Amino acid sequence: MGRVALVTGASRGIGRGVAMAMAGAGYAVAANYRSDDGAAASLEAEAGVGTFKWDVSDYDACEAGVAEVEAALGPVEVLVNNAGISPDKFLHKMAPEVWRQVIDTNLNGFFNVTHRVIGGMRARRFGRIVNMASLSAFHPSFGETAYGAAKGAVVSFTKALARESVARGVTVNAVAPGYIDTDMVRVAPQDWLDNLVENVIPAGRLGTVGDVARCVLFLAADDSDFITGATLDVNGGQLMR
Ligand code: NDP
Repeated sequence: MGRVALVTGASRGIGRGVAMAMAGAGYAVAANYRSDDGAAASLEAEAGVGTFKWDVSDYDACEAGVAEVEAALGPVEVLVNNAGISPDKFLHKMAPEVWRQVIDTNLNGFFNVTHRVIGGMRARRFGRIVNMASLSAFHPSFGETAYGAAKGAVVSFTKALARESVARGVTVNAVAPGYIDTDMVRVAPQDWLDNLVENVIPAGRLGTVGDVARCVLFLAADDSDFITGATLDVNGGQLMR
């Protein structure tokens, strides 16, 4: 069996696609999720991936969850921080609980899981961490004050952790997807999505989970060891930084 990879938020969407691609590439994959037991069961059945249910915004749950993963599969060597939510609202209409929920999941959740695995990676002199950022880190849309703030912080978190980890064999990179065809994007009205595809995304289509998964596989590879602190854009040309 290949290296042990933990993917958070993997019952649906991008995380699921990443978990399936990594399993297909020979990794021993642990797929974390929060609530969708049916989707988790189908992932187990389809890809033979072990699923582990906990909320990444809860530090104690992350401690217990990572311990459970490591007892089942061995030390986590690759971490894909992917779990995220986007309950977008204009700031003047945003309840404080929503702000906190977004930051607790999309930023603190990345800390919570990373904090449980980074020490072991450093001690073993090998680790790959891939953080799911977003185009919104650089160009947030209307309603994305919390989401954009969290994703912008993920990019800085990635750089800072990369700097202090690379000499211990641990690389830390981010992927910044544009609009990817998942439940998160499908909540938007169809006419809005049609306009996006026709007039905003130069590639003329939404991205697929496969488009993102292949970037994660590249950054997670053993021989990607000279790439760290980078953020890889996957957005069909929508934003060229
Ligand atoms: P989806 O809404 O399709 O799926 C989200 C996944 O995250 C689900 O598996 C969900 O689990 C899980 N999840 C949510 N909250 C938690 C939590 N607190 N603890 C554990 N798991 C959780 O989202 P996407 O696949 O579209 O997005 C995945 C990541 O990619 C996010 O970080 C998102 O911000 C980012 N992204 C997405 C883009 C897109 O266009 N789709 C663009 C840019 C970035 P469950 O269903 O079991 O609750």
